[in-house]
Amino acid sequence: MPTPPRHTRLRGQKALVTGASSGIGSAVALHLAREGAAVAVNYAGNATAAEAVVADIVAAGGEAFAVRADVSKEDQVEAMFGQIIERFGTLDILINNAGLQQDAPFDQMTLAQWQRVIDVNLTGQFLCARAAIREFKRRGVVPEISCAAGKIVSISSVHEIIPWAGHVNYTASKGGVMLMNKSIAQEVSPWRIRVNAVAPGAIRTPINRSAWETPEAYESLMKLIPYKRIGEPLDIAGAVTWLVSDESDYVTGASLIIDGGMTLYPGFAEGG
Ligand code: NAD
Repeated sequence: MPTPPRHTRLRGQKALVTGASSGIGSAVALHLAREGAAVAVNYAGNATAAEAVVADIVAAGGEAFAVRADVSKEDQVEAMFGQIIERFGTLDILINNAGLQQDAPFDQMTLAQWQRVIDVNLTGQFLCARAAIREFKRRGVVPEISCAAGKIVSISSVHEIIPWAGHVNYTASKGGVMLMNKSIAQEVSPWRIRVNAVAPGAIRTPINRSAWETPEAYESLMKLIPYKRIGEPLDIAGAVTWLVSDESDYVTGASLIIDGGMTLYPGFAEGG
């Protein structure tokens, strides 16, 4: 098979994608590599899946390695950044993607369910962003590499704004991500560090399999999506790549919603 053309918007840049062994994270890792970035593929437990993503990147002529860390654990995050700096020399791009759901009716939600989702989805993004920004500030802008000293894109969710019964821990984590990001962006802009979020609607990945895997579930999901199709990981990967490229150099503190219109109050399409 002929090798697909390679693009170079991220040539010479070093990236970390958390939770990159599946779903949106693996698509983003492949897309960044296709644009020339060397990619650290973080995973929590599934080494085989992470190595498969690395192998795909290498097969396409890119550079990558897999690095294990539970993003909710400070010592593991620090060790992961140590490995990345040792291997790549520095970091230019962080994609804060790792996340999970532990759903329950509110009055049955255990403290452990609440805490785990906040620990991974919110504290995990804090720990990785803090480590990345320390490196971005230390190194500063390298004009031949990028206009910015560093770029962070956090994968949030439409549930940073849409309430979601039965998922209070998840919505609290994603609402937290939104304002954490905007506040970090405000604080670090003078260092030419950009911090943005992508807020996906329903994307076909393992996290929401029950919402799309049967025809009945898919039909019910379509009631929420004016564009009448589920999103695919590539819908997110292209936008993330743009947000970490110099093409978006004046964009910071934004939450880019990518949802086929889910946040357009579809119930109002007929009446209201
Ligand atoms: P996914 O389950 O395929 O990906 C989540 C990844 O995070 C997995 O690889 C998982 O192993 C990893 N992870 C979980 N806990 C971790 C930890 N402690 N440390 C490191 N990695 C960990 O699902 P996805 O849809 O690709 O999710 C990626 C992100 O997108 C999540 O933050 C999710 O909340 C967000 N999101 C997804 C959708 C959707 O419809 N799929 C919509 C909105 C937001």
